[in-house]
Parts: sequence; C-alpha cells; structure tokens
Amino acid sequence: LEDAHKAIECGAAGIGLFRTEFLFINKASKTSLLMSENEQFEIYKEVLQIMSDKPVTIRTLDAGADKIINAKGMPSGNEKNPLLGWRAIRFSLDRKDIFKTQIRALYRASVFGNLKIMIPLITHVEQLQKTKQLINEVQEELTLQNIAFNKNIPLGIMIETPSASIMSDVFAHQCDFFSLGTNDLTQYLLCVDRENTIVSNLFQELNPAVLRQIQYTILSANAASIPISVCGEMASNLQNLLLLLGMGIRTLSITPTKISEAKEFISCLRYTDLVALAKRIPLCATTADVQTIITTFLNENTIQPN
Ligand code: PEP
Ligand code: MG
Repeated sequence: LEDAHKAIECGAAGIGLFRTEFLFINKASKTSLLMSENEQFEIYKEVLQIMSDKPVTIRTLDAGADKIINAKGMPSGNEKNPLLGWRAIRFSLDRKDIFKTQIRALYRASVFGNLKIMIPLITHVEQLQKTKQLINEVQEELTLQNIAFNKNIPLGIMIETPSASIMSDVFAHQCDFFSLGTNDLTQYLLCVDRENTIVSNLFQELNPAVLRQIQYTILSANAASIPISVCGEMASNLQNLLLLLGMGIRTLSITPTKISEAKEFISCLRYTDLVALAKRIPLCATTADVQTIITTFLNENTIQPN
C-alpha cells in the first residue's frame, strides 16, 4: 500500500507489476499460513482504490525458485534445479485451491478500480488455456453467489521464458497484453542464474540474443494489436531505454523513485533517432557491440544519463 502511494507521488500512470508473492512471503514468515481470500481481497481493493482509474497490473502468485513462501505444501526450493522446477503458474495450476482463492479475490476486488491480471512464467500455451478455464469457473461461481465483478478484466502474460517469446505470435492472439520480464528472460535465454555472482558477468540484458527476442516479441504484440510493456529491471536503466523505446516499447514499469528521472531523459530524445539506433541491433554480435552503439549515440546526441 505504501508503494502504491509512492507511485502516485512519483507521477506513475499506473502499476505495471504488483508481485503478490510478497504478501504471501510476509504473512508466512510470521504465521506459516497462506493469505486467505478476504485478506487478499482487502489489499487488492485498497491498492485499486488508491490508484483510482489508473491501471493496476496484479501478477498471480510467482512462488518457488527465488521466491520461497515458508508455509506447508509450498515449493521449498529443495529441488535439483528450482529455477526449472515447480514454480509460478506451474505451481498455481497444480494447486488450484490456492490459485482459485487468488482469482476469486482479484475478481471481487475488480469493481474497485482498473485491474489487469497477469500470469507469471508461462511456457506452454495450455497453461494459459487452463488459467482461462479456472477464471470461467470463478466467474460462474461469483455470478451464482450474486457477487459483483468486472466481466472484462484484461488477462495478460509475462514474457519471461524463451518459449513464450518464441511463441509470442501465437500467445498474442490468446491474451490481452504482454509484459516483458527481462530478469527471467535474460536468465533463461542465456542460461545464467540471475542470483549467482560467479556467473553474473554473463547476465547481460543487452546481449544480442536477449534484444532479438525482445524485438520479436514486440513485433508479435504489434501484429496482433495488443499492448506490450517491460516490467523487468532492464527498464530502470536509462541507457537500456534508448533501445527499448527505439524497438517500439511505450509502457515501462520501473521503481517509483526513478520515474521522474526517466521522464526527463525520455523528453530529451527524438523518436526517429531511437528507431534508427534500434535498427542497428541486428548488426551487433556481442554485448560490447551493443554498448558501443549506445555510447556512440549518447556522444553524438550529447546526452548524459546519470
Ligand atoms: C522478471 O522476471 O523480469 C520479472 C519482472 O519478474 P521477477 O523479477 O519477479 O521474477
Ligand atoms: Mg520473473
């Protein structure tokens, strides 16, 4: 709730990523219990009310791997490869009780603001189809119970796995929006654990492989006329913005304290220059090549990002 107030103070046009697992992590750390439907409903409702008519994108539970919830039956992280294991939508679809509780809370809260629902770590088209089935069940239940809800809540997916990005032309016709999760997309494309300091030099958001997948995903979204935003840390770096904007990104989700700086920086840029810059990405073979084109651009345009 504090972050929602901060977002408004900092001039945000909405909330691009509400990571609901933090609610669960906080509660479980004190009580070893999960969030109930009503507890979730109250928080979602309040955030939506704080943001008024501004969009609030709430991501369903991304439990597991680097986000451990200390409650019974939750992913423990004690798998051989937790990052490739039982997490996010995989867990939610296996634990429909927990997933349904969350979807019900979100749907009940939907009448209090401008809600969008987003699904994490989608890798398979069937996961989206199963999620929609569950949403239909929730809608039917709420209708029978005479509980009000918005019938047209946009349903979007995180594009944060190679398969989702490669299949983005298909996904774009099956959901209402995309959000690029560049933290995981970089991790999974380059096979670099994002928290492993030994290989952190290989975690490169500006690697041409990552940029090509981002570019392809933007083209898929544009071709299907669905919105696409970036909610990974990549969007918080001003130099990266040059490429993201040049590739066609128009909506960024960044930490509130960086909003005014980003707005000021963007206001110094000319769109046609950014498009020309982004056109040079396919010519880059290495991250160093990408960095060179950015540095040259900044020098030629005498722009100094902090
Ligand atoms: C991402 O992977 O880029 C993302 C925004 O999700 P998270 O950082 O919560 O995994
Ligand atoms: Mg992620």
